[in-house]
Amino acid sequence: MSSAAPTNIAGQKHALPSYLNADNLGPWGIYLQQVDRVTPYLGSLARWVETLKRPKRAMVVDVPIELDNGTIAHFEGYRVQHNLSRGPGKGGVRFHQDVTLSEVMALSAWMSVKNAAVNVPYGGAKGGIRVDPRTLSHAELERLTRRYTSEINIIIGPSKDIPAPDVNTNAQVMAWMMDTYSMNSGSTATGVVTGKPISLGGSLGRHEATGRGVFVVGSEAARNIGLEIKGARVAVQGFGNVGAVAAKLFHEAGAKVVAVQDHRTTLFDPAGLDVPALMEYASHSGTIEGFRGEVLRTAQFWEVDCDILIPAALEGQITAENAPQIKARLVIEGANGPTTPEADDILRERNILVAPDVIANAGGVTVSYFEWVQDFSSFFWTEEEINQRLVRIMQEAFRAIWQVAQDNKVTLRTAAFIVACTRILQAREMRGLYP
Ligand code: NAD
Repeated sequence: MSSAAPTNIAGQKHALPSYLNADNLGPWGIYLQQVDRVTPYLGSLARWVETLKRPKRAMVVDVPIELDNGTIAHFEGYRVQHNLSRGPGKGGVRFHQDVTLSEVMALSAWMSVKNAAVNVPYGGAKGGIRVDPRTLSHAELERLTRRYTSEINIIIGPSKDIPAPDVNTNAQVMAWMMDTYSMNSGSTATGVVTGKPISLGGSLGRHEATGRGVFVVGSEAARNIGLEIKGARVAVQGFGNVGAVAAKLFHEAGAKVVAVQDHRTTLFDPAGLDVPALMEYASHSGTIEGFRGEVLRTAQFWEVDCDILIPAALEGQITAENAPQIKARLVIEGANGPTTPEADDILRERNILVAPDVIANAGGVTVSYFEWVQDFSSFFWTEEEINQRLVRIMQEAFRAIWQVAQDNKVTLRTAAFIVACTRILQAREMRGLYP
């Protein structure tokens, strides 16, 4: 990240919130650069663009819990609501040792853009706790989740802000959040979180939705550049909820998953890894380490001979250093923010198509929207209906963004931002400023 704060189109420095360090903006700085790239395409709405450059509300909470050994531990938690112009906040909760306020702010902003890009009626929000959950027992994790939920209780709710799973959180964590919120509010509020267990008002198809969306968008993008999925070689970084499901769907469609990387190791097999067996293995061991296949050094992952590359782990993975080594023709961003702006430019120059996160991984929030609608109406749909609606929404959103990219000769990321930021700022303008 450059040492100076990014400038807006008028050449002014962004007025940074006082808690951010202009010398190290992290993921939030990347997001600000993305907004600057789209501003020239916003026409008269550009006068509202500052609204996108600051979160509406950022909450930092202390989360103290008693550990099983009797000592008291304190963790830092966050919930950021970036923009609520189009509806309640929506976005996941991440438990990770590297979570920072800058990261949560960026993730919340990308949720605003994503929700508007697929046109679901939400603003953007995100939460997290700076903790390595692997160091906690099941009971400690429950206490942590419940205390965090209590601390952010006043700003979440079915019509205010609806959390969901993200890295290292799952349906069980959502069940604890739903129960804690319900206990505090005095009635069962299933619609306060999505990604819940089916027995608590969760939706069929939600677990697979993000990976399925990655597959749907990836297939559309591949078709547009004349790349056949059958026989295509695919490399996937991250083998969790998003990466494993995406790998499975590409495998089922006849692609060869030649490389998979997780936080422990990188596996390579030019003949194609046995994805169902790898999923079964990882579900027991919590990692792909130890499964059959050649083991590569971490950095070698980016040089693997493949047609499609799917980053589905964390942000900031494709950088100016490794982008020149990438062999793929298509990058499908399962993760949020995996490509830095410098790497974006390199990939564009090298004619490698990037299907950006804000559309490629929007399948999760789309089915979260279905879950929330089902909870409100207490009427539940079949998995077939859910998958059909998901595919239709993702295809329509991708095709519209593709057209904007062609019309303006811009990348799919800038096109997605044009579509999304226009929707957000139109809502902002129509609502006007209060008071
Ligand atoms: P997850 O916790 O289920 O899986 C994360 C995977 O990434 C694991 O396999 C882990 O081993 C791997 N990983 C972690 N650090 C790594 C590293 N340094 N190098 C390589 N691999 C590493 O998380 P998830 O829900 O699959 O989320 C992955 C990404 O997708 C995140 O960026 C998340 O924000 C994004 N996302 C998730 C959803 C969702 O519905 N879960 C929706 C949209 C976007």
